[in-house]
Amino acid sequence: MHFAKGPRKCSTSNLPKSVRPRLHTRPNQKRETSMSRYKWVHHNDTKLFQVGILPDGTLYNPNGYPDIEVRAAVLAADQRRHERRSRAAKEASKTRALRQQRKVHTIAHRIAARQSTGPRHHCYVCGRGLADPQSITRGIGSECWQDVLNEIERLRRNSP
Ligand SMILES: [Zn+2]
Repeated sequence: MHFAKGPRKCSTSNLPKSVRPRLHTRPNQKRETSMSRYKWVHHNDTKLFQVGILPDGTLYNPNGYPDIEVRAAVLAADQRRHERRSRAAKEASKTRALRQQRKVHTIAHRIAARQSTGPRHHCYVCGRGLADPQSITRGIGSECWQDVLNEIERLRRNSP
């Protein structure tokens, strides 16, 4: 078993911070809507410097650009930023899933060849902390272990 059961695989988020092997939250990912202030934004063919929309909806506009242009430019910049971030997040989760799939495959081969996979204190597949002796011995947490078993089964079926 992994440290704790949660909505995500191998969740460790209810452990004290000091022993959490990897954080699931990303502290540098701020909420996007609270306030947007930019050093500069593109607006048509020019740039507006030091503009933003404050949490109460008023404009941050020390350079005194026309309000309507500031608002349009900031909203457009927010939109671009949002798209960029969700694209990056999707990319990252795809990469992570692929990497884990590859690891499941590698470890399944190793197990099929009767090579040892542990002991480890972090899951070979997902990298999160392992707590119980059985998981530590094999180096794979229980949720990932199920994936590994499926992969071993698949390899067996596919081998002549
Ligand atoms: Zn795992």
